Amino acid sequence: MATDTVNIKITKVDNSRIESVDFENLPFGKFFSDHMFEMNYANGKWGEPTIVPFQNLSLHPATSALHYGQAIFEGLKAQKGANGEILVFRPDMNAKRFNESAKRMCMAPIPEGIFLEGLKSLLNLDRAWVSSKDGQSLYIRPFMIATDDYVGIRPSERYKFLIITSPVGAYYSEPVKVKIETKYTRAAAGGVGRAKAAGNYAASLYPAKLAEEQGYRQLIWTDAKTHTYIEEAGTMNVIFQIGDKLITPSEEEDTILKGITKRSVVQIAKEWGIEVEERKVTIAEIIEAMENGTLKDAFGAGTAATIAHISEIGYEGKDYKLPAIEEREISNKIKNYISQYKSGEIEDKFDWLMRV
Ligand SMILES: *Cc1c(COP(=O)(O)O)cnc(C)c1O
Repeated sequence: MATDTVNIKITKVDNSRIESVDFENLPFGKFFSDHMFEMNYANGKWGEPTIVPFQNLSLHPATSALHYGQAIFEGLKAQKGANGEILVFRPDMNAKRFNESAKRMCMAPIPEGIFLEGLKSLLNLDRAWVSSKDGQSLYIRPFMIATDDYVGIRPSERYKFLIITSPVGAYYSEPVKVKIETKYTRAAAGGVGRAKAAGNYAASLYPAKLAEEQGYRQLIWTDAKTHTYIEEAGTMNVIFQIGDKLITPSEEEDTILKGITKRSVVQIAKEWGIEVEERKVTIAEIIEAMENGTLKDAFGAGTAATIAHISEIGYEGKDYKLPAIEEREISNKIKNYISQYKSGEIEDKFDWLMRV
């Protein structure tokens, strides 16, 4: 994957904090690497791209992102390949999606080349933080906030773009018990569901908490208007297998986040001759398939777990058990393939890896 050359001003830390981190025991998203990428937007243009020591931000109390939520983010991962190279899975897709989110939230777009080169330089500088231990990776969190110090609702004229990174352990994706949500709504047509906008996640917390109290690990959201169509999970897209076919809600709905993992799963499945349908999916057909035994598999697709199997689906008070994980041939095979792909163990046949 080719990227442009960008001049980045780098200020290094005097002493790395890496020795203070226990890589044998890494909670998700708690530790951060030595440096961060930072760039500020003002007067209609982006300022100098910089890499600085990881540190707190100093913000005016009227900073508009804090009041009105003009804030977006991305999430992706870097791994270390066998020869010490750092591998990042499809970061160009994240850069593109970031700008789609920015557009919807009336924020300044970032030239994709700067997004990618900034990330590359940051990873290169903090390469020791990309563990080569089995399953471990460096989680990458690019984000942007509106920084006008003005208590009035209008698009900000100033923005701050940052990339921070966090070493994370192997993701043990235990099969999850999910609930089909038919009261609360994540996203409505014409809203901001397609954007990775900060507020979407805050709005999901309460219904997720209620479901957790009922014993479910995650929600499957349904359409806002009728609550009869399946949309996606909180941070994962959903894919079902009925018979030998994979079926997943179409991204044409602007209420569904366009997942890079899902896109990859669909492309690989098609490459392998598996039939994939991207269309509206009704709750009714999923219930019917569970009742008549044709639902072979259901799983979430997202950066965190790659593929997270669903063990049980709850709908209107009734729980339906899904087939044993070992029997889910297609998703297990795809999961394995993507995992090997990300760690550089197999050929990069789709040109999906950025190497640092
Ligand atoms: C980030 C996210 C996903 C998964 O996207 P990936 O690019 O595969 O990580 C799915 N749904 C929502 C709501 C998300 O925020």
